[in-house]
Amino acid sequence: METGTDTVLEWQGYKLVGKYGAVKGCHWLREKLLRGKPCYKEQFYGIESHRCMQMTPVVNICNCQCLFCWRFHGMKEYPSPDMDDPEALIEGMLAAQKEIVSGFGGDSRCEPEMWEESKSPTNVAISLSGEPTLYPRLSDLIEACHKRGTTTFLVTNGTNPRALDDLDVLPTQLYVTIAAPTREIFEKLCIPRSSRLWDRLMETVSMLPSLDTRKVIRHTLVSNWNMGWESEYAALVERSEADFVECKAYMFVGDSRNRLAVENMPSHRDIRTFSERLCAENSYELLDEHRDSRVVLLTRNQRKARLAF
Ligand code: SF4
Ligand code: SF4
Repeated sequence: METGTDTVLEWQGYKLVGKYGAVKGCHWLREKLLRGKPCYKEQFYGIESHRCMQMTPVVNICNCQCLFCWRFHGMKEYPSPDMDDPEALIEGMLAAQKEIVSGFGGDSRCEPEMWEESKSPTNVAISLSGEPTLYPRLSDLIEACHKRGTTTFLVTNGTNPRALDDLDVLPTQLYVTIAAPTREIFEKLCIPRSSRLWDRLMETVSMLPSLDTRKVIRHTLVSNWNMGWESEYAALVERSEADFVECKAYMFVGDSRNRLAVENMPSHRDIRTFSERLCAENSYELLDEHRDSRVVLLTRNQRKARLAF
């Protein structure tokens, strides 16, 4: 990793593991342990926030520079042949997660039973920073998680369809972010490092029906940038045959505050209106919502939606 990047990341609370991996306790891990308040994914999908490990195998490698990204934009490196071994990464990350939760043990607001549970994650969110499909051994990494009894949530920007197609072991749930309805907006908002990435995202959308796992399209919505165009979004969602769609407000947090303004953060009402218009354009319907996170969940199959993993 470039000199200086590791210092910034550590200062921001990342625990670096191996050469390119990292773990960080998320806001909701803390909220759940201290106040019993889970993240919306516990409400929507049953993921227990206090037993969720947020990690990345490529903290410093991304092929986009999205304006709405809350992460530190030092992600300028490229995958190299000396990437970390997946088994060693997971072992190191589980140890780091134990260190992260250890501090909550002395806090009177944290229930001892929940604290004990938090030391053994049941879900791994492969999403913290960077684009995880650029890690060449992603399939082995997912397998290493499943072998240890956890589920996996993989979040990708969708610009690497070949990597998804090459996965021998699929994640329990696959998220693909579609944050632009057109190539033009994608180029300006997501700032891809290659002019081919929009076409690759479109390839991913077409390929999703063939992947045998639960699939979620996430629209990260930014006022005055990518809201509206409901029929364009609706057509992409329909083509993807995703099980769920999350219409999620951009949040004015982290490093994104250097690139966008607080006015770019939609209200929950804006998200509701967008979601209703989207549903009017395709076969999806509203299923749930979480006001604090300004997110609305859609599904195309109500009956299947509440099935557990
Ligand atoms: S799913 Fe994401 S937000 Fe929720 S607890 Fe896990 S890392 Fe945190
Ligand atoms: S793809 Fe993800 S990690 Fe990369 S810049 Fe965009 S939001 Fe950040």
